Amino acid sequence: MHRLDRQYINGEVTTPRGTEICPVNSAITGEQIAQGVLGDAADACAAVEAARQALPAWSATSLDERRGYLNRLEDSFAAHREGMISSLVEEFGTTTATAAYIVDQSADWFRDARELLTEDTFVRKAGQATVRKVPTGVAVLITPWNGASWFIAMKMSVALAAGCTVVIKPSERGMWQAQPVLDAIVDAGLPAGVVNVVFGKGDPVGNTLTSHPDVAKISITGSTATGKTIARNAVDTMKRVTLELGGKSPTVILDDAGTAKAAAFAVQAGLFNNGQACIAGTRILIPASREQEFKDALADAVMALRVGDPRQPETVIGPVLDADQYDRIQSYIQAGIDEGGEILAGGLGHPDGLEHGNYVRPTLITATNDRRIAREEIFGPVLSVITYRDENEAVAIANDSDYGLHAYIAAGDSARGERLARRLQAGRVMVNQIVDSREAPFGGFKQSGIGREFSSWGIDAYLETQAIFTA
Ligand code: NAD
Repeated sequence: MHRLDRQYINGEVTTPRGTEICPVNSAITGEQIAQGVLGDAADACAAVEAARQALPAWSATSLDERRGYLNRLEDSFAAHREGMISSLVEEFGTTTATAAYIVDQSADWFRDARELLTEDTFVRKAGQATVRKVPTGVAVLITPWNGASWFIAMKMSVALAAGCTVVIKPSERGMWQAQPVLDAIVDAGLPAGVVNVVFGKGDPVGNTLTSHPDVAKISITGSTATGKTIARNAVDTMKRVTLELGGKSPTVILDDAGTAKAAAFAVQAGLFNNGQACIAGTRILIPASREQEFKDALADAVMALRVGDPRQPETVIGPVLDADQYDRIQSYIQAGIDEGGEILAGGLGHPDGLEHGNYVRPTLITATNDRRIAREEIFGPVLSVITYRDENEAVAIANDSDYGLHAYIAAGDSARGERLARRLQAGRVMVNQIVDSREAPFGGFKQSGIGREFSSWGIDAYLETQAIFTA
């Protein structure tokens, strides 16, 4: 049995002082494939201390030097591509094609960050002032299990470009996929302490990092409940926070949309990454005037999805992360039925022939927006279908959510779709297309988070603003 017992602090790969063990399982077989050894509060403090000591020299590096290091990270991530892909597939069941997409983008973040390293990012004039952007300080980067390399690279690239040093805490439920990322970071050979990686649970490692007085900035991607705990931890020393949290995004199908096209769009929006995506469009809103037609088309589209081994090229939906996620998803399908929902596709239990591993039947179920299945994030392949009477009601339902991360609109007339988009409370709205633009800001309204990532918004989140007035 593999033992995952490495961490990276002050330029050295060491074993954690912590002794807590957690099982690491394959999503495909459900079997344990490794033992993870988790760090403790002392490991977290050692990582922060290393980052603190490395900060003065790193924040004084020239833009050229930082570009060089980002280049090395890009190359190193690219060199570990195969290991990153296979570990993502094994650990959380995403398909090989999706994993390749996630991993290739991971290396791209370093190139994007290099391009942000221009004088304009750091200095500009405002009236009589010279406005400088200075690194915030030691940044703690906390990531979820649905794509470790992507989240780590996305956050680390801009934090380092800004001149911050970092402590990365990947999810304890994503330790397998974090191993090749750790290798890539070590191989890139940055100065000691600039990047540190510790593993551990929210308590004690996460809480230690996010309440540590020497930490100036926290960026977390995770659930809304975790985001709230972190914001509380952060407030005593007024740390800057970027919170990328959960979602329950609507897909509004307008009454002029083409049936098959809209159904395919909604299913794609809802089931990317086996539905294990914060941006999933899990509430599909359909017009009453064409209710049956859209229900039938959506059910056909969901039933046509091939569920199976994520390593097989024909598979569209693989297994979900682990038995806990499987049980959680089943309990939501049951709640949807108990609350009066009609199953249009899928339902409880494993798909036929896939009784082993964490395979879930992609499920489409009718709901009203007040039901648990329409309000709470499920993080699996379960979509609610909600009928609306007119466009005003569609907007009211779409916005009636604690979350506001993403929204999708299928419209016959794109201009009408765009008008509707302006009325939705969501950080990103996709009208008739699903794109993954790294140039545009990403982040949520309401309880989907605080702040924005990507591009100039991303680097800005690691910079303080100072105005200097000189007579
Ligand atoms: P999670 O909240 O359970 O864990 C996320 C990370 O936070 C993990 O590394 C975990 O160890 C850490 N953590 C937990 N408690 C902590 C604490 N007290 N202090 C510091 N760190 C702590 O989320 P998850 O199950 O790993 O991921 C799924 C969730 O992430 C979903 O809610 C999903 O919507 C969200 N997510 C959001 C985005 C986005 O960009 N908005 C993207 C992907 C996932």
